[in-house]
Amino acid sequence: EADVNFSPIVFFNEQMLAQINLRESIRNFQEQALQQQEFEVYFQPKYHMKDQSLVGAEALIRWNSKEIGFLSPAQFIPIFENNGFILKLDFFVLKTVLSFLEKREKAGKRIVPISVNQSRVHLNDEKYVEDLRKLFLKFDLPTGMIELELTETAFSDIQNAQKIMNEIRQLGFLTSIDDFGAGYSSLLMLNAVPIDILKLDRFFLTDSCDSERTREILSHIVSMANALNIRIICEGVETNSQAEFLMSVGCNFAQGYLYGKPMPQKDFEQLLDQTSNL
Ligand code: C2E
Ligand code: CA
Ligand code: CA
Ligand code: CA
Repeated sequence: EADVNFSPIVFFNEQMLAQINLRESIRNFQEQALQQQEFEVYFQPKYHMKDQSLVGAEALIRWNSKEIGFLSPAQFIPIFENNGFILKLDFFVLKTVLSFLEKREKAGKRIVPISVNQSRVHLNDEKYVEDLRKLFLKFDLPTGMIELELTETAFSDIQNAQKIMNEIRQLGFLTSIDDFGAGYSSLLMLNAVPIDILKLDRFFLTDSCDSERTREILSHIVSMANALNIRIICEGVETNSQAEFLMSVGCNFAQGYLYGKPMPQKDFEQLLDQTSNL
């Protein structure tokens, strides 16, 4: 007699069906969502911890779908990386950020560097650098205002990453490694690939890490970054003691709920305007 628990029919439960339906809905509505401006760019501020000053922001995508409801990037980004739609969506975010900065700059308002996430999928797209160039040329901005964040997993092919990051920097973008320390960062990669900013993964701040060992590791990452002329920032900073800890190892820049959650453009503009006379 067959064990009913191993029947595929039994495994294919309602929860799985819901998952599949959700994936399918996400794919079905992606294009229309972009046309109808359901995707919105949020901004999370970055701070210099010592003087509590606002120094930049990260652009983070949000999708409030009429059909599906509110979706987190963790739900749709992997799907879009799979079907290629991420190429379009990342350029939408970049374009939004470029126009945001240009508009403020022309109005004589304060601007700060903004980082934009770039999926590793771009690194296998032959048109990537050319597309970046074409878009960037349409805007008139001071240099150093856009950082492109790539997670360290994007650098598995070091030679390809080295070539593309060099080209990206020649265009006038800054380059940033996201989630540094969470995966397979290699020192070889840091040596080969031109990087301006290193973003420490918030894993370094979890209680599960032995704090003396973590302190030791972080101190060395910070001094290495200093020696290589790489700026360093930690993400996911939630408490004052985490901020103290980071400053004590020489990392002075942070992003996290302690300083501000990702917020709509309007709110971020208000924050920028408030701090423009400092
Ligand atoms: P990420 O690039 O590592 O972004 C940081 C994530 O941590 C964001 O989640 C942010 O809201 C969250 N976060 C910020 N501060 C804190 C904190 O203090 N505590 C905790 N627990 N979390 C914090 P979010 O916005 O949900 O984005 C998740 C991921 O989705 C991002 O991780 C990024 O990999 C991806 N993503 C978001 N927007 C884009 C985009 O425009 N393009 C691409 N390719 N990926 C994106
Ligand atoms: Ca990021
Ligand atoms: Ca990150
Ligand atoms: Ca991440």
